[in-house]
This record gives sequence, C-alpha cells and structure tokens, in this order.
Amino acid sequence: MFDTLTTRLQGAFQKLRGKGRLSEDDVKDALREIRRALLEADVNHVVAKDFIDRIRERAVGQEILQSLSAAQQVIKIVNDEMTELMGGEQVKIAHAAKPPTVIMLAGLQGAGKTTAAAKLALHLKNTEHRHPLLVAADIYRPAAIKQLQVLGGQIGVSVFSLGDQVSPQDIARQAMDEARRGGFDYVLIDTAGRLHIDEALMHELLDIQRVAEPDEILLVVDAMTGQDAVNVAQHFHEQLSLTGLIMTKLDGDTRGGAALSVRHVTGCPIKFVGTGEKPEALEPFYPDRMASRILG
Ligand code: GDP
Repeated sequence: MFDTLTTRLQGAFQKLRGKGRLSEDDVKDALREIRRALLEADVNHVVAKDFIDRIRERAVGQEILQSLSAAQQVIKIVNDEMTELMGGEQVKIAHAAKPPTVIMLAGLQGAGKTTAAAKLALHLKNTEHRHPLLVAADIYRPAAIKQLQVLGGQIGVSVFSLGDQVSPQDIARQAMDEARRGGFDYVLIDTAGRLHIDEALMHELLDIQRVAEPDEILLVVDAMTGQDAVNVAQHFHEQLSLTGLIMTKLDGDTRGGAALSVRHVTGCPIKFVGTGEKPEALEPFYPDRMASRILG
C-alpha cells in the first residue's frame, strides 16, 4: 500500500538517522523532502503545507535538536502528526439505541458502493454479530439489484428488493417495515450512483434520507481517483452531512493522497477501507495503524 510514498519517506528519515546530532537545516531539508513526497502522492497542497508547518513547529525546538535521539524524535513527530491528519482516533460505526440502525451508502458509479454494502453487511454479521438487511435501492444501474442479491446470497445476508419499477423512497419505506418485522438490527441501503454528481442524484438521496432517517450516511469513494475523491467527498458532505467515508481500492496502485487528505479537507472520518474485491476485503480504519503502515 502506498509503496512509493513509503520509500520516499524512509529515504528522508534515513538521511536524518545517519547524522547523529541534527541542525535546524537538517530538519528543514528533511521536511522539504517529505513535503515533496506528499505532493507526489497526490496529497492536497494545503494539507501538505499545514502538515509540514506543524511538524516544523514541533521539531525545530532546541530541546529536540540537542538530544541524542533527535532523528528518532522527528520521526515520532511525523508519525503523530500523520495520525492526527487522518483523524487521530478510530471512529466506529453507529449503533442506534433503538434498532434498527440505518446506514445509507452513497457514491458515484464504480466507486465500489454495492460491493461495500455487502462487505459492511458481512463485517456486521461476522465481527459484530449483528443481523443486517441489505436494501437494493439503486434502480437505475441495470445490474445493481442482481449484483446485491448475488452478494447477499454469497455472504448469507437477506436482501430486500422491489425491483426497479418502485421509487427508491418507497423501497426505503417498505424496507424499514420489513426490518422491524424481521427483527433486523441493521439496515444497509445501497442507493443509486451516477457518473457525475448531479441535482437529480442529490434530490433522490435527500428523499431517501427523509424516509429512512439514517443513523449513518457513508460515502463510498475510490482511492484510485486521488484528489477527485476528496472533491467528491466535499461536495456530497455539503449536501448530505455525511457521517463518514468508506475508501475503496486501497489494494490497487494508489498513491495515498486521498486517504491522507480527505479528513483534513472535509472533516469527515474514514470509517472503513476496502482492500480487494472479495466481501471479506474490508477493514475498519485506524489512523495510527495507517500512519505506521505508510511510514513503514
Ligand atoms: P458501484 O457502482 O459503486 O456500486 O461499484 P461496484 O460495487 O459495482 O464496484 C465496481 C468495481 O470495483 C467492481 O469490479 C468491484 O469488484 C471493484 N471493487 C470494489 N471495491 C474494491 C476494492 O476495495 N478493491 C478492488 N481492487 N476492487 C474493488
């Protein structure tokens, strides 16, 4: 994951480690290199600048520079700040006091939304021992309903569908009734995606939101699309008040910019990451573990 970024950062740290005591210029050189590595990884430039400023502020103090473990301390500061950049603490999935907990999944077509719905259902079922209901409310993409039914069959989770001739709001309304009747404690609504953000899509999502009153609105974004993913998240968040993100395709050849920038730009936490096509390939997002992974 993010191999190029990791290699570049390790290169910058290696130079510090080789030096014994550090001068202010040593740290500044390293920071310049780290900044360049972040920009090459497609981190938003404002995010990269703020990040470097914070590290400089903490690292250029006399106390650190005079200490024998200066390099180690600078690396620790980078680790801490990277963890903070991605939100600091893990943000868990909601659990409504009065079930069912309703989670609406939104996203552009191809981001991995339908797959993420199934992955999340499997996670809730296996790891949290819940009883989720998947709801097929994407009535526009021809294969979406079938895809969700097939995935539901594979993972042993019920899928609620009314075909593609009933409005998404009605599907959501009836799904809620079904969930209460059937004793489901989570309802995961797979909404329609479009190729681009448009008004019709937003209206439809707002309508489903009114009917289903979700505890969570999770946006599914594709890490491979870099800063576009961040822009999409910002746009959706303005309209829908997202509660979190699922970032998919971190197993691909992605540079890391979206994962590092999106929290700082939007204020929205990443709650899960997708790391493959299979239903099992979903991991809760821990900022500290991700920072350690990136720093290698
Ligand atoms: P939707 O249009 O947003 O519902 O997208 P889909 O769920 O149909 O996913 C689009 C494609 O991305 C499919 O081929 C999925 O198998 C693939 N996909 C989804 N999540 C991941 C992931 O985390 N890693 C990889 N490698 N592929 C993924």
